[in-house]
Amino acid sequence: MAEHESLEFGKADFVLLDNVSLEEFMANLKLRFEKGRIYSYIGEVVVSVNPYRAMNIYGRDTIEQYKGRELYERPPHLFAIADAAYKAMKRRNKDTCIVISGESGAGKTEDMSVTSVCLYRVKNMLLKSNCVLEAFGNAKTNRNDNSSRFGKYMDINFDFKGDPIGGHINNYLLEKVGVKSVFKCIFQLVKGAPDAQLRSLHIQRDPTAYTYIKVGGQIKVFADFKAVTDAMKVIGFTTGEIQTVYKILATILHLGNLKFGSDGDVTLIENSKLVSVLGDLLSTKDENVEKALLYRTVATGRDVIDKQHTHQEASYGRDALAKAIYERLFCWIVGRINDIIEVKNYDARVHGKNTVIGVLDIYGFEIFQNNSFEQFCINYCNEKLQQLFIQLVLKQEQEEYQREGIPWKHIDYFNNQIIVDLVEQQHKGIFAVLDEACMNVGKVTDEMFLQALNGKLAKHAHYTSRKLSPTDKNLEFDRDFRIRHYAGDVAYSVVGFIDKNKDTLFQDFKRLLYNSSNPVLKAMWPEGKLSITEVTKRPLTAATLFKNSMISLVENLASKEPYYVRCIKPNDVKSPLLFEHERCKHQVEYLGLLENVRVRRAGFANRQTYPRFLQRYKMISEFTWPNHDLPSDKEAVKRLLQGCGFEHDVAYGKTKVFIRTPRTIFNLEEQRAEM
Ligand code: ATP
Ligand code: MG
Repeated sequence: MAEHESLEFGKADFVLLDNVSLEEFMANLKLRFEKGRIYSYIGEVVVSVNPYRAMNIYGRDTIEQYKGRELYERPPHLFAIADAAYKAMKRRNKDTCIVISGESGAGKTEDMSVTSVCLYRVKNMLLKSNCVLEAFGNAKTNRNDNSSRFGKYMDINFDFKGDPIGGHINNYLLEKVGVKSVFKCIFQLVKGAPDAQLRSLHIQRDPTAYTYIKVGGQIKVFADFKAVTDAMKVIGFTTGEIQTVYKILATILHLGNLKFGSDGDVTLIENSKLVSVLGDLLSTKDENVEKALLYRTVATGRDVIDKQHTHQEASYGRDALAKAIYERLFCWIVGRINDIIEVKNYDARVHGKNTVIGVLDIYGFEIFQNNSFEQFCINYCNEKLQQLFIQLVLKQEQEEYQREGIPWKHIDYFNNQIIVDLVEQQHKGIFAVLDEACMNVGKVTDEMFLQALNGKLAKHAHYTSRKLSPTDKNLEFDRDFRIRHYAGDVAYSVVGFIDKNKDTLFQDFKRLLYNSSNPVLKAMWPEGKLSITEVTKRPLTAATLFKNSMISLVENLASKEPYYVRCIKPNDVKSPLLFEHERCKHQVEYLGLLENVRVRRAGFANRQTYPRFLQRYKMISEFTWPNHDLPSDKEAVKRLLQGCGFEHDVAYGKTKVFIRTPRTIFNLEEQRAEM
């Protein structure tokens, strides 16, 4: 494989290692990284190490070099995997998907963009949508300056000729506290918008003037405000829509600066000038804004009364509003992009089947100083994806060999299903316990939730807390519980779990926004139409919504033929030169890469049922063309392969022939083409 690549760069495919040991794996990975070879293979799986520097390997000419080639003909590259997924889709008329995984900062989003450039070919619109979504969905964290705070799954539709004709995006939980971790678009606005526009939004050029930005920290790199605005125009957002988008961002910044005070029992807004700014931006009367910020309407029996917020409730409401309008804005943007890129009026009877390549780029596993509900969801998502990898790459593969009676020595791996269950199991799982706590009437505290967890999960091997392990030095706080994840231990603080799980935005805000005279804003808040007495149904909790969306995501991926990109973060200091051995080794271990090599090496690259194999290759042997007179198809396939001299490279199962190296298939294909 990849023989054109000189050995001074190490082995292009880990399957070719002399000995499959962690030491050799690491030595090869390091050598390749140091020689600037950031991509390698394990069979058809790409291993990618973040170079933290611009690489000159993504040009048009490089794409051309990979088009239509077999994997092992060129040095490992994402283009080769994109092309393999594309070819598989075309040849077999089957949907495929590319799943990019790895921890935060490992390079998933960059790899996704690279893959997209190759797949979309001409569809500029799809590329522009990446640019917009990144601006609104990425923020700086202390793991990654450009961290995806939302998960993105994008289907690209192809027509029967194999041309991209459209797409659809699903997004998964935009981190709500993200308003405080400051999304890129907010910096782009403050730093990059023209003076006149800033003036109309009542925004100053100085980011430090805004509380939310001060709390969230500054970003060094400012992507271009103009580039994003232009991208929105190209996609087809109207001028009114774009203006509203920026008005909403400005609203969020102003909300952050709003201060409440009290005069005796009365809560009031200290900087009341901001109220009229908000009224202007939200196209509504100032008094409506003030009322929604200071009061909530409650129905008591038949009466409807206005109840004044306490100082604390008002601050809480303000922050909840800022988070909610940002989240709603983001979902609206995704919805608008979908309106435009979705395939319309495709007639399969005229054009043939339209097939799909899905690309998944989601937030990577992360451990912060303080981990909360969002990290819990993100890390659960990564458990789900690891489980899918195990199912598809390690488990089913080995089960098939056993089923087919191929001599096989089982290769052991850690199965993280136990952690997935710990989170999502009905009644007993952490999400279920959380939902139950949120269902209780009366005041349920985060601490009570923790007690319930301790009660239910005391014996679980992957769960512990301060109460259960009082002497554990790594558990610092009483309010923490700790999960032993596949990728490492994470302590989560229960503070805020209950709140974040419930939909806690006061109904008054929804009505305020719905009653805006700005039609774009109004359309974002349809539920504001309900009057106070009509609102009764309890909405699904954030945990349940997230769990359901993860389950359907995984089902969707499992229904397609998957191609994997496994990303590795070489160091924690964003250095282009440093290969931190222990950090990388840890990732290689938890990603199950060594097991992947073992299964792949002992296994077979290709398998086909006997009749199918004959159907494709019978013309290359006199014993099988046009028909064979052997007792079974299996015998016929044996005879054919013996005739070609491939006996050493194959194994015969009960219903399928297994071929070890892709080269053999390639060779058969060549012979077939020559006939
Ligand atoms: P998260 O889970 O936080 O979203 P991620 O895996 O998506 O993380 P990226 O944002 O893709 O990580 O990468 C982090 C940074 O690493 C990028 O902003 C870029 O500076 C650098 N980087 C990653 N991949 C490449 C690449 N192929 N070439 C050059 N730089 C890269
Ligand atoms: Mg990312």
